[in-house]
Amino acid sequence: MRLTVQHKLLPTPQQAEALRRTLETAYKAALKGVPVHYVDPRNTSRTCPNCGHCAKENRGTQSSFACTSCGFEGLSASLSR
Ligand SMILES: [Zn+2]
Repeated sequence: MRLTVQHKLLPTPQQAEALRRTLETAYKAALKGVPVHYVDPRNTSRTCPNCGHCAKENRGTQSSFACTSCGFEGLSASLSR
């Protein structure tokens, strides 16, 4: 039996380290019962930074933000960071 290793699919040491840290963070959060949200960058402008609720209704105008779930309000400038 031959085993073929596809080197192109293997992560670089940097990628492996980043993945390890991500998993470690998620693991520690899970132990504390803290929900972990992985936010899609494309939805950042309409995702609440406070509770993670994502809805297009969250975005009132281009410069304002009001979460329809928890009531969090903020400016888009602070959301993009
Ligand atoms: Zn919210």
